[in-house]
Amino acid sequence: MEPIRIGIVGLGKIARDAHIPSIRGNPAFALAATASPGAGTLSVAHFSAIEEMLEQVPEITAVAICTPPQARYRAACLALVRGKHVLLEKPPCASLLELQHLAEVAKAGRKTLYQTWHSRHAPAVELAARQLSRRTLRRVRITWKEDVMEWHPGQQWLWEPGGFGVFDPGINALSIVTRLVSEPLFAQSAQLYVPSNCATPIAADLALETAGGVSIRATLDFRHRGTPVWELDFETDEGSVKLTDGGSCLQIDEQPALRAEASLVGEYAAIYQHFAEVISRGESEVDARPLACVADLFRVAKHFTVEPFSG
Ligand code: NAP
Repeated sequence: MEPIRIGIVGLGKIARDAHIPSIRGNPAFALAATASPGAGTLSVAHFSAIEEMLEQVPEITAVAICTPPQARYRAACLALVRGKHVLLEKPPCASLLELQHLAEVAKAGRKTLYQTWHSRHAPAVELAARQLSRRTLRRVRITWKEDVMEWHPGQQWLWEPGGFGVFDPGINALSIVTRLVSEPLFAQSAQLYVPSNCATPIAADLALETAGGVSIRATLDFRHRGTPVWELDFETDEGSVKLTDGGSCLQIDEQPALRAEASLVGEYAAIYQHFAEVISRGESEVDARPLACVADLFRVAKHFTVEPFSG
């Protein structure tokens, strides 16, 4: 079979660290070109904008959109309208309606829209799902803390309108919860801590509830120093199911059940395998629930101004 010729839009950290190695490691794909305002450093054609890339490299049949979320809708819509399959990084768009419209455009043009949640591919998530399917959930506690200076150096777009601030990593936790808890999640309250010189929060304390009344509390914090804490603790009628290291490790009833190396490249290898499958089936895959949770949390939020961010 001919490989799917793919172009990458937004040649930043995640494109270089995870998308390119995953594309190169999967014979179903061939990297055809890249488009980004800055320099390309790769052995493929590079363009400063998606329009130019699609015009100059017409053999491209799929596009991975790895820009900041503010630029994602426009690029994805253009690619779909030009008849390309589209893979969307997370958070999928700046707004729910943008994502809904992309799904409609993909459907109308019979193209695949694959909207990814990479954390759902972490090694222990499916094992946790199997455990939780046999138990009754009582309470969920999320702790998602990392040093923004270490993990997002120079990413000014995080702090601008349409950026997600601390929800950029925090939505990964919500993507795992929405994979493991099938009931709708309703935002109850949110305290958002917004630096005086930024449009988006640097930290957040959140309360949600499942339709069945199970409480979900979350603490997100970019001001954390040292080793990150990416944990989800599910308290059930039979004890606890706890994911740590962003879903790489699992403890069941406080006993280690799985300890895997955290690997973004491993998560993206699974993403590209799945992208090839959904393209071959002629389907799309979109799950807006994590984005809807964030949107609802912003609606019920109280905002607190905190000291300016000097990144
Ligand atoms: P990043 O390093 O800032 O890269 C984003 C790149 O997008 C920039 O390098 C910039 O390219 C390019 N860009 C900006 N506006 C553009 C436009 N209009 N058209 C085309 N390219 C444009 O950010 P990142 O860490 O890669 O994150 C990007 C997305 O991936 C975020 O939504 C993030 O949540 C997600 N993600 C990141 C990670 C991670 O570990 N970093 C993990 C999973 C998911 P130039 O440099 O060429 O100007």
